[in-house]
Amino acid sequence: MTEPARDDELVFRGGTILTIDPQHRVVTGDVACVGGAIVQVGGDYTPRSRDYAIVDCAGCIVMPGLVQAHVHTCQTLARGRADDMELLDWLRTVVWPYEAALDEPALTASAELACAELLLGGTTAILDMGTVHHTDAVFAAAERSGIRATIGKAMMDAPDPQIPRGLRESTRASLDESARLLARWHGAAAGRLRYAYAPRFVLSCTDELLREVGDAARARGVRIHTHASENHGEIALVRQRFGKDNILVLDELGLLGDHCCIAHCVHLSDDERRVLAARGAHVCHCPSSNLKLASGICPVPELIAAGIAVALGADGAPCNNNLDGFRELRLAAMLHKPRFGPRALPAPEAVRMATLGGASALGLADQIGSLEVGKRGDVIAVDVTALHTVPTASPWSAIAYAAGASDVRHVAVDGHLLVVDRSLRTLELARVRDQARTAATRLFR
Ligand SMILES: [Zn+2]
Repeated sequence: MTEPARDDELVFRGGTILTIDPQHRVVTGDVACVGGAIVQVGGDYTPRSRDYAIVDCAGCIVMPGLVQAHVHTCQTLARGRADDMELLDWLRTVVWPYEAALDEPALTASAELACAELLLGGTTAILDMGTVHHTDAVFAAAERSGIRATIGKAMMDAPDPQIPRGLRESTRASLDESARLLARWHGAAAGRLRYAYAPRFVLSCTDELLREVGDAARARGVRIHTHASENHGEIALVRQRFGKDNILVLDELGLLGDHCCIAHCVHLSDDERRVLAARGAHVCHCPSSNLKLASGICPVPELIAAGIAVALGADGAPCNNNLDGFRELRLAAMLHKPRFGPRALPAPEAVRMATLGGASALGLADQIGSLEVGKRGDVIAVDVTALHTVPTASPWSAIAYAAGASDVRHVAVDGHLLVVDRSLRTLELARVRDQARTAATRLFR
């Protein structure tokens, strides 16, 4: 498959539009993109050229694509292989051995499956942790699929005997491979693909590596993507090794800033919250993953009240078990109500978190995350005529609480029309499904 042809002039015609602009406006009519950029939001659009594409959005809510600020597209083949376990066992007995066994064809199969699932479900941009090796295959899959992706190579140089030999790497090799990938892919596909440093978590890395990552990310102006404070067992090991908590370790080694996105942050001390807020680091809330791994519940309303920016992510297929951004949105909107009351994360705020919040975590809030003239054309149309979304009293309510991935009808990224009437144009689904099944069977034999 080749890069999808640019739809130079693309019109999402006749929907109810959730702009996610600063006024949270809801308007009706067309969303038009020319040359990949949004040129009109609402009203009737008159095409400028003779050669334009129109997708019918009657009965749809048109909105910015969902942005997931924490996923592992490399793990998709392990879907259903690691259920009902807690984090450290889950990593050591299934996920790390699985990642160590991934070769290039298997990684391609996993990443293509993930990108297809994400796009068909209305996720247009991701921050992907990657795995230790073969990261070019992940970038290539993202490039073919058309998704907007910021991808790292997971860094794991700690001399920890629990890390399988196939994943353990030297500090120098880890940094050199990251630098190579950054040079090759950062800004590729007309800026749709970007590199992020991805030290997996402090326990998988040496101090030397973390310090160099902090310096290199600042010097090169790229994101840092990591995990922290997900689980009590992990936190106890961090205290044992460093004598302090995760966020304080990351801060001391120079990794925190508004270019840093940290998955989970389920259990934070007051000190850690203060430091996160002061540094402007982003937290990615992964409610399904935190529930399924029995990690706990991230106190999102408290983080927001402390001034910390929060985004959403599905994490990976073996801890979720899918990559449906709508499920994370619904769960995030509901999960905090028992503790913080029914107004905790109301529907419009949750939808904003799933779109602009993610864009901000990726450092792309000036380009994506809302439908505003001048931003890139990352647009989805969600059909709200299925019985489970009728009647549609409020579009915010429909998106936050009633709609799901299968309601997504059309998807564009950067002005490229990737999904039309629920059909993905860039990857052939029968092949993606077959190669995923074959590779998974081979890996888990
Ligand atoms: Zn993760």
